[in-house]
Amino acid sequence: MIVDVAIPVRVSNSFHYTIDDESGKSLSRGSVVAVPFGSRTAYGFVLGFPENSDVDNSKLKSVKEVLVSEPLFDESMYLFLKWVSDYYCHPLGEVIATAIPKPLWAPKKSPRQKGKSQSGTLSHSSSTLTQHDLNQTQKQAVDSILNSDETKPFLLHGVTGSGKTEVYMHVLSSVIEEGKTGIILVPEIALTPQLTQRFSARFPNLIAVLHSDLTPKERNQQWELITKGVAKIVIGARSAIFAPLKNLGVIVVDEEHETSFKQEDSLRYNARDLAVVRAKLHKAKVILGSATPSVETYQNALSGKYNHLKLPERVNRRPMPQTYFIDLKDKNQWFSPENRWLSRGLVSAIENTLNQGQQVMLYLNRLGFAHFLFCGDCGHTWRCKNCDVSLTYYQNPPLLKCHYCGVQKKVPHTCENCSGVHLETMGLGTEQVEKSLKSIFPKARISRMDRGVIKGKKDLEKILDQINQRQVDIVIGTQMVTKGHDFPGIALVGILLADASLNLPDFRANERTFQIITQVAGRAGRAEVPGEVYIQTIHPEHPVLLSASRYQQDEFYRSELAARKVFQFPPFHRAVMLRFQHSQPAKVESFAYQVVRILQKESEKNFPHCQILGPAEAPISKMKKMYRWQCLIKSDSVKELQTLLKLLFDWEKQQKSPVQMAADVDPVNLL
Ligand code: ADP
Ligand code: ZN
Repeated sequence: MIVDVAIPVRVSNSFHYTIDDESGKSLSRGSVVAVPFGSRTAYGFVLGFPENSDVDNSKLKSVKEVLVSEPLFDESMYLFLKWVSDYYCHPLGEVIATAIPKPLWAPKKSPRQKGKSQSGTLSHSSSTLTQHDLNQTQKQAVDSILNSDETKPFLLHGVTGSGKTEVYMHVLSSVIEEGKTGIILVPEIALTPQLTQRFSARFPNLIAVLHSDLTPKERNQQWELITKGVAKIVIGARSAIFAPLKNLGVIVVDEEHETSFKQEDSLRYNARDLAVVRAKLHKAKVILGSATPSVETYQNALSGKYNHLKLPERVNRRPMPQTYFIDLKDKNQWFSPENRWLSRGLVSAIENTLNQGQQVMLYLNRLGFAHFLFCGDCGHTWRCKNCDVSLTYYQNPPLLKCHYCGVQKKVPHTCENCSGVHLETMGLGTEQVEKSLKSIFPKARISRMDRGVIKGKKDLEKILDQINQRQVDIVIGTQMVTKGHDFPGIALVGILLADASLNLPDFRANERTFQIITQVAGRAGRAEVPGEVYIQTIHPEHPVLLSASRYQQDEFYRSELAARKVFQFPPFHRAVMLRFQHSQPAKVESFAYQVVRILQKESEKNFPHCQILGPAEAPISKMKKMYRWQCLIKSDSVKELQTLLKLLFDWEKQQKSPVQMAADVDPVNLL
């Protein structure tokens, strides 16, 4: 008997092995076997039982051992995994290995007997959270979702604080009543403990939670609850899209615009896009929720591919916060010569807010004390030896750190280049903001919320609690504060440098800026006290900042879509970034050029709708000791793009080049 086996290695095809009929009978698609692979033994997933092989049967090696006979995935999951493998040009064996927790297919000792302890495995919550009656627009949204028979995805486009979560929960209730199940995808589960609590309180003993902080054993336990049908709802970060729920009724993607739904290594999938695909395969409903939808999703709603549901107002008609611009070019606004990044306007707004007993949130997406350290005599800067980036300067404790590979160095007292002693810093980080504010507002209780101080779930829960209990007057934070937090006491939000994200070398720079400004502003004025937002910028007339501050969303999307069309970017063209890396720069460069020559020849002949751009050195040309090059392929024909990629990877397999080549389909990060 012949078995077709997918092995988790960087080779795209599966392999044939023989097995005796008796053992073969115990197998089905989704079983796990141990097979000889080169000089080692590998794990393999059974895909099927072909009648014959194009390799001479006597030359086929045989299966060494049956490890798990009960299949790890069912037919519909198989179709899904196969789709993922084809679309992302990634070997099926690696896709399966990514989707299913390792201890299940690479068991250490007694494979499926472990992990059955009963200790509080289902997520439950003791807190009683109020259930709200839906308002009119929420009710309409729930009705449209529940009453539609077609499987078109829904964009739930609701301003910050409009009660989207309440809509998800009502839909889920009715799905559960019908005996079906649901998946809730959230950007980063550790950042959104409030959301998990609300679901656990509403659906006690029905929820499994999947996230990256789980130990392998805990992950196994959650997985078992799902496969056994005990858990009906799975809440998790991107990998939860692979949760083996049966009878799937709905998939919710909360904050669908967030980039963390995209995995940036190995299998580079986007869980938001996969939610739409999996829902279609299972005939389940899919809801993409956001106050600031991605441009791709917005276009799908405009074109009628998705249903566009709007929640244009905050619950209880609370007003959106008032916004004010402060021009940082205006010297009269500078708080002091040392603090040019802080305006008198913002300082007095903070003062007023504190006097009224309300809380302030300040946003700056820059960790550390300063961007970098330099020598005032010779201009030398300190850079990472593994990565092509400058080291970030931290003051407390004093360190130079690389944000890409984590390398840390002591802060020097003299220049390593000229022995000069006049070392200075440039650029603003959250540490410095904290220090300055402490001296300006000595009586205020000031906390920072960024990856420098928040190392794990406990730290985060603690600070969220402190803010809720009003034990903090001013919170200074990075991206972390923009997530869907619901703090009733925040009356003032200050955006310190709104321009920081506008000038990144990325075609999504405008979109990101629009989303960040809208989301941060959305943290203000969520309870009785109306909110205020101060935006400090050197471009107070910038159209993106204006449309974000005036809540003119249609205007932003219209102009952004027009620009994307002209420059042939997504959503009008599909993009694939080919990424090359190797420890020797000359090797990467010459291989990248070789690939581009082949692509150009092919596209001229057979793929007129594909455009090849590059190759070019990656903007971060060296990371973790690897030199990086890239090449962008754009096309308005998905079919041509997929065929061209297939050809390319078949060719690459023959080359046996030491340079790593990976396809990043629908890339999010271009650096
Ligand atoms: P979003 O996810 O859109 O930002 P949430 O679902 O978090 O909004 O709702 C914002 C706040 O309003 C929450 O505190 C929630 O409990 C409350 N809320 C939601 N719906 C209602 C309603 N119909 N009536 C009263 N309060 C509501
Ligand atoms: Zn580094």
